[in-house]
Amino acid sequence: MFKALVLDQIDGKTKAEVRDLEVSDLPNEPLLVDVDYSSINYKDGLAITGTGRIVSQFPMVPGIDLAGTVTESHSDEFSVGDTIIMTGWSVGERFWGGLSEKARLKPEWCVPLPPGMTSHDAMVIGTAGLTAMLCVMALEDAGVTPESGEVVVSGAAGGVGSVALRLLAALGYEAVAITGRAEMESYLIAMGASRVISRDSMQEPAKPLEKQRWAGGIDTVGDTILGRMLAETHYGGAIAACGLAGGYKLPTTVMPFILRNVRLQGVDSVMCPKETRTVAWQRLQQLLSSEDLAEMSQTISLEEVPEYAEKIVNGQVRGRTLVKLT
Ligand code: NDP
Repeated sequence: MFKALVLDQIDGKTKAEVRDLEVSDLPNEPLLVDVDYSSINYKDGLAITGTGRIVSQFPMVPGIDLAGTVTESHSDEFSVGDTIIMTGWSVGERFWGGLSEKARLKPEWCVPLPPGMTSHDAMVIGTAGLTAMLCVMALEDAGVTPESGEVVVSGAAGGVGSVALRLLAALGYEAVAITGRAEMESYLIAMGASRVISRDSMQEPAKPLEKQRWAGGIDTVGDTILGRMLAETHYGGAIAACGLAGGYKLPTTVMPFILRNVRLQGVDSVMCPKETRTVAWQRLQQLLSSEDLAEMSQTISLEEVPEYAEKIVNGQVRGRTLVKLT
């Protein structure tokens, strides 16, 4: 027997409960893994609270991230004793996920834990951190360098935002944090922000073009703030957009694109090809220290997950939330 968080739908409402399961309850996939840690991302919050249509079938074990050790393998790719990271691929949405002491996984979903990285640190990073790295790589691809000017990050005190600030600072960029929580200023400076600006100052709908302020940007919130970031981006700059914590709309015009050569690059971590994610994990290992990661994370138990799922949906969580399993 082992413990897992199980979601059921009763009278149209999602109910989350920690239950005892048996290995035979798990779906039939080639790898059996003892899960060390999982984490809570915004999407997990939506799934567990039933806020968004994330889960496609019930019962579901949520958890889009996990790190652990292979205990049974019917695959040539991984052997018993290998440590792996799994993020995305609709696990925790369509397939049973990581908020469980044991999981069965497809090998193609997994990447080896990079040498020198612990499963704890991998889950502080998790989907949020992988996405932050992919956003930074998108800015690099677009030619945004530390010499280009300031890079703005929205939703900065959240998971993606916190890791993005740390990565940008490690690479020598001047990162400007946008937050709706003034009390987060000292945390954001500790994460690597060169300065902090208020969410309110970015929420006024932008004119088609505004004064050029940003060489680049990483947006986790969407809507008016993304519209303003685009209107304020320098000639030839780029914005990497990955989230919708503030809304899925995008009020903008073609002006930043056709008059300032601005690039809007979408970033997805869920179906990101394995080669790209392997490179991203190697870079995360090189750029983030265990001390950096400890500062931006808190660890909770499986029983506390429903409470933290509410908090993340309400924008009340700082940095990354880890779930210790075995
Ligand atoms: P978090 O909840 O940890 O962070 C989101 C942050 O957004 C909050 O901390 C808050 O930052 C800010 N925020 C919250 N509500 C609002 C609002 N109404 N208006 C403006 N800002 C708001 O979430 P994650 O960092 O895990 O995820 C961020 C976003 O990125 C989510 O939309 C998520 O779905 C998306 N995402 C996308 C991925 C992809 O592959 N494309 C992968 C991972 C995440 P502050 O308090 O500093 O203002």
